[in-house]
Amino acid sequence: MTAILLENTLVIALVVILGAIVIYAFRSYSPLGVRMRQEQNRRNLLDEMVRTCPTHGVQPVQSLVRLDDGTVVCSLCFQKVIHADNELPR
Ligand SMILES: [Zn+2]
Repeated sequence: MTAILLENTLVIALVVILGAIVIYAFRSYSPLGVRMRQEQNRRNLLDEMVRTCPTHGVQPVQSLVRLDDGTVVCSLCFQKVIHADNELPR
């Protein structure tokens, strides 16, 4: 009984390892895999560009603020705008 369980476990591990090798080879060496990596790189760069504040640099997604007109600004710039609007007149 133990031998059967061990054999089944090893066969499952072998199938998983072969599947991982096939997926790695497909993503690394096939033209479609190269295209998928290039598209992922483009999405990453566009995402980073959206998250980059010209003043404060790249900000985490959690700290971005979407304004009423759809513009996305970083939280530090948003705080500056809010404090400038709420400043008491002298
Ligand atoms: Zn900013």
